[in-house]
Amino acid sequence: MSPFFYVVPFFFVLITLEFVLARRRGLEIYRLQDTVTSINTGIVSQAVNVLGAGVSVYMYSLMVDAFGLFSWDASNLWLWVIGLVLYDFCYYWVHRTGHEVNLFWAAHVIHHSSEDFNLATALRQSATGFWFKWVFYAPLAVLGVPLKMFIVLGLIDLLYQYWVHTQLVGRMGVLERFMVTPSNHRVHHGQNDYCIDRNYGGIFSVWDKMFGTYADEREDEKVVYGVRKPLRSWDPVWGNIHHYVLIARLVRGASSWRERLVHVFGKPRGPVLLAAVEEKPFNPEEFVPFATPAPRFMQVIGVCSTLLGAVALMTFYWLLPGLGLGQSLLYMAAMLAFFSFIGQLWLHPRVTGAARQ
Ligand SMILES: [Zn+2]
Ligand SMILES: [Zn+2]
Repeated sequence: MSPFFYVVPFFFVLITLEFVLARRRGLEIYRLQDTVTSINTGIVSQAVNVLGAGVSVYMYSLMVDAFGLFSWDASNLWLWVIGLVLYDFCYYWVHRTGHEVNLFWAAHVIHHSSEDFNLATALRQSATGFWFKWVFYAPLAVLGVPLKMFIVLGLIDLLYQYWVHTQLVGRMGVLERFMVTPSNHRVHHGQNDYCIDRNYGGIFSVWDKMFGTYADEREDEKVVYGVRKPLRSWDPVWGNIHHYVLIARLVRGASSWRERLVHVFGKPRGPVLLAAVEEKPFNPEEFVPFATPAPRFMQVIGVCSTLLGAVALMTFYWLLPGLGLGQSLLYMAAMLAFFSFIGQLWLHPRVTGAARQ
């Protein structure tokens, strides 16, 4: 059974708690469409990664069997601590290339596509990163970190990152020096000039300090969340593939192989971004978040889609051991089609009663 089977209800409880606490403080940090899209994107990601994780696990097991140099004693707590530090170091590079190489940004951009920042944003995870991320953990495989340990370390690193997606926790004193905290992760999600390509760490911020990618949150400039080339959609499936589509279009329109390679492996803020948007100094005060009209019945449909999707995901986890590959792919495809439909419905002028934005 996937460990996420047990944590999904926990996520819902914490999101509700954050929503209530924020309200009490007079903060409006949740917008319904964005929240539903974030959670639905999380469900889509999990539905795909039920099989996608299999790819990572399989590739890692091949690497560790072929190249593993040392044997690790899983009963030694210190080896777990060392393993976690090493895992987080590899994660830093996965994450950094996810921002600085266009093809990998295509997988990661979905996590940054929310223009809000809350515990639901944390669930807006990629459904497509599984095809390459395992490569970055090759050093762990060479050191012989066993597969089970690798999986548990990955879960610890991922789950730690959940709680840092909040605006309710301020700066955390001495922890800011070496840990990833809500404050420095807010900077990571910012699109202000000083936030771009900063704070890639998963658990530890020491890597950012070592490699010059760290920035502290500023008090004189409010962080504006999201990306410079906004998604402007509520469709989780489109959110996951739109940047791949853009790269494909750019590659098709390129006139030389050098240009094609730059579109695929160059910086996202290089030719691709410049080709797509006008670059000008960023003014946080001018920013208007993406929103479409949401009549009451659409709000109800959105919330119901999330609840239904959560039940469908839990059922998927439950049924998975008895499903064949074809049945699993069909189940997954049905979930993707459902969430894409809901997202598109929210954008449709006839449904929203407004022109498409
Ligand atoms: Zn990121
Ligand atoms: Zn994040």
